[in-house]
Amino acid sequence: MFRVNENYLKLPGSYLFSTIGKKVSAYAAAHPEETVIRLGIGDVTQPLPPVVIEALHKAVDEMGNASTFHGYAPDLGYEFLRKAISENDFQARGCQITPDEIFVSDGAKSDSANIQEIFAADSRIAVCDPVYPVYVDSNVMAGRTGTYDAATETWSDVIYMPCTAENGFVPDLPKERPDLIYLCFPNNPTGETLTKVQLQEWVDYANREGCVIIFDAAYEAYISQEDIPHSIYECKGAETCAIELRSFSKNAGFTGLRLAYTVVPKALKDQNGTSLNALWARRHGTKYNGAPYIVQRAGEAVYTPEGQAQVREMVGKYMKNASYILNGLKEAGYEVYGGVNSPYVWLRTPDQMTSWEFFDYLLENAHVVGTPGSGFGPSGEHYFRLTAFGTWENTVKAVDRIKAL
Ligand SMILES: *Cc1c(COP(=O)(O)O)cnc(C)c1O
Repeated sequence: MFRVNENYLKLPGSYLFSTIGKKVSAYAAAHPEETVIRLGIGDVTQPLPPVVIEALHKAVDEMGNASTFHGYAPDLGYEFLRKAISENDFQARGCQITPDEIFVSDGAKSDSANIQEIFAADSRIAVCDPVYPVYVDSNVMAGRTGTYDAATETWSDVIYMPCTAENGFVPDLPKERPDLIYLCFPNNPTGETLTKVQLQEWVDYANREGCVIIFDAAYEAYISQEDIPHSIYECKGAETCAIELRSFSKNAGFTGLRLAYTVVPKALKDQNGTSLNALWARRHGTKYNGAPYIVQRAGEAVYTPEGQAQVREMVGKYMKNASYILNGLKEAGYEVYGGVNSPYVWLRTPDQMTSWEFFDYLLENAHVVGTPGSGFGPSGEHYFRLTAFGTWENTVKAVDRIKAL
């Protein structure tokens, strides 16, 4: 009889967002008179920018015409998009990333989950705690994380790097040497970020110790302060130790359209001199057939001057929500973080409530849904995440209800 990949059976029970979904549905069914406001899940709500819609229409028409039809996309993505990415996201910031170091894909979730495949099976991973769950779970599926301890909700072979108010939500360098280090800044879930000087310390550490940093920059467009790096390649030496993940999802509202890219510099090599760029190209060629032509054209449109202006306006609306949440909660006496370079506000639960106790309290008394911090890792306990991705009206209503508690 066949057997399944038993690593999958090691994954802890219920997925965070399905638990939240069930609790919210049960509450809504029992209280049909209340309007529940959802500031839990990290999904955008604004429609796509007009330049994106125009580019999609144009590309769709091309697909219906024999002389401009497109079949399979090139493995790495269309040159027009990789060139626009290289010029706008990197060269314009002084980073020497070239189009052949950029791999276009349909999402940073899948890239962040798949990138571990090109590393040795016994690689040690280090993650921030709290953390975007995909990094750990994908390594569990690959059999790399040891045994799970349900009491502490940790894996024996994973190095956890706590990020709490005490260290400003920036991890300390690990005491044991990892092979792969996952960093996400601006961070999901804490909404906090690090400075270029702080990121440089990580790059220097990785080069010195022979580690690879997988840098998730999915929230790059939300950076508002000057000294915050938009790309890890703004740091000296990052091209020999870092892979960067980017996504059009939060940056341009593409969560339902699907477009992302991963940067694997040619200078990034393992101890035997094997190029990770060549390996990832090989992997892409075998397991992936490219993001749709029409979506890559839509992505290209984001880099036009009108596209940049429209995306800035969209991000600005979410950031207006973020500051309303941040200021409202401060006025109500909460200890709050994030919300300045990120669409997430991270608050400390009042009166030592656990994250789930506060979830229930908020749902029952303010009819507002957020995300319990403990769902992102043990160091997220006693914290809670609210997102700025709602509408302005709902955001104001939610914050006013919380203030009135
Ligand atoms: C939303 C998000 C992504 C983006 O995922 P897509 O698959 O591109 O939609 C990546 N990383 C983090 C941390 C995120 O929160």
